[in-house]
Amino acid sequence: MTKFSSFFKILGALFVMISFSSFVAAAKFGTCYGKPIKWKNNRTTMYIHYPQGSELDLHSQWAMASWADIAGTAFTYYVNWRSGNASLGNGFSEISSAPIVAGHVAHVQTKTLCTKNLRLGTVDKHYITEADLTLNSTYGFTLDTFEPAHLHEPFSFDKVVLHELGHTLGLDEPPQISPFTYFAVMLESYPFGHYDNLSPHADDIVGLRALYPDPSYQKIDLAVSKYREDLSHSHNGLYTKVIVPSTGGYRTWFNKGDPMEVEYTFENLGTTTVTADVRFYFSVDNYVSAADTYIGSASWIMPAASGVIASAVMDVPLSLPYSSTGNYYIGYVVSARNGDDDNYYNNFVSQALPLRIY
Ligand SMILES: [Zn+2]
Ligand SMILES: [Zn+2]
Repeated sequence: MTKFSSFFKILGALFVMISFSSFVAAAKFGTCYGKPIKWKNNRTTMYIHYPQGSELDLHSQWAMASWADIAGTAFTYYVNWRSGNASLGNGFSEISSAPIVAGHVAHVQTKTLCTKNLRLGTVDKHYITEADLTLNSTYGFTLDTFEPAHLHEPFSFDKVVLHELGHTLGLDEPPQISPFTYFAVMLESYPFGHYDNLSPHADDIVGLRALYPDPSYQKIDLAVSKYREDLSHSHNGLYTKVIVPSTGGYRTWFNKGDPMEVEYTFENLGTTTVTADVRFYFSVDNYVSAADTYIGSASWIMPAASGVIASAVMDVPLSLPYSSTGNYYIGYVVSARNGDDDNYYNNFVSQALPLRIY
């Protein structure tokens, strides 16, 4: 099943020129005679094979909570622990490490029930009954905060478990169209988070809300990212950058007064359409705040679970804190015009690399 969401920019409130690429949600999941294959009663217990209270246990539970906490969804993970070898068919859904087929960093194996009453024509069962998540113990993993280098060994434990847990919930990988025009944890090799955290993206949220909807829980949640779409998987290529408008090329230095095109990305992870204002700043450090030098803004109407990958053309300010040459970070803040955001911490971000301004 494929769902699409759309997005709109507000032309009347646009203060800077914007270029943008579309952001299409492509969440996928398996079906049984047209019904989604999911956990019965919107719950399951995961049995963790790492010692209770260990770092691996706590990071596994963090990833489970990242899915279970998504607003507008009703899924609940329960946690328990087991020792010995995990195995598919033992009736326990398990998280463990073991040597698996070479080339796979991890995998999820599931047992499902799909039955149709041929006389009545009703779909009796369309359920996942067991899902075992196995990390390949022949590879190295790190528990460090995610950074693009962790797309290679040692792999980010959090990133891999977050992606694989999506499979235990019934989500499949969306099609790998090129160029990627959306973010998704369920897109293999592309699970970048918001702010500095790994977390499910708008596309993943579309999928989870389709499987386990809970319209009673509403919230506003805008989230920015310092990452950009990039097929190369080169470490620095994953960060948002600044473009010279006349050439279209990236550059890390500008003169005061020069036009520059700043890439930015953000998503509406909440449950309602919001009008989002994006404000850009020049900062002498990599922490953006309203005390920094304001350089421009943009506004978008964002449906629930949608995103924007865009850039804004602005001039480098003529007046900056350093009277001569200096390094600056460009940061941006998004805010919802029609309500309070539940997660302020992921509403602002600075670009990873500073600009040299002459
Ligand atoms: Zn099992
Ligand atoms: Zn996968």
